[in-house]
Amino acid sequence: MGTVYLIHFDEPFHHARHYLGFCEDGNLAARYERHQAGRGSKLLRAVAAAGIGFEVVRTWEGVDRNFERALKNQRNAPRLCPRCREGRHGPAIGACGAPRARDVSGHADRAGDAHA
Ligand SMILES: [Zn+2]
Repeated sequence: MGTVYLIHFDEPFHHARHYLGFCEDGNLAARYERHQAGRGSKLLRAVAAAGIGFEVVRTWEGVDRNFERALKNQRNAPRLCPRCREGRHGPAIGACGAPRARDVSGHADRAGDAHA
């Protein structure tokens, strides 16, 4: 058994904005340090070389590689990503104490729905 982890890039790298990986249980911290150092993944090494930051935003523990494959096959990382979901609905912190900001995000939401 192991852990599947989702990494979100601060900025899109070509067509990629996420990296989905797998490691043995208990090894995520070490794996993440290796990624930060540019090892363990060609994609993340390229992302780091481009000056784009990234971080682990979600993990699924006690799963195996079949689970990783199933998630990858879904091809909907943004929907799995709490960071992207948060961005689509506007940051929660902007909703309090700033009515004008809330109105703006309301318009943005309606525009998004129209395109959906
Ligand atoms: Zn994301």
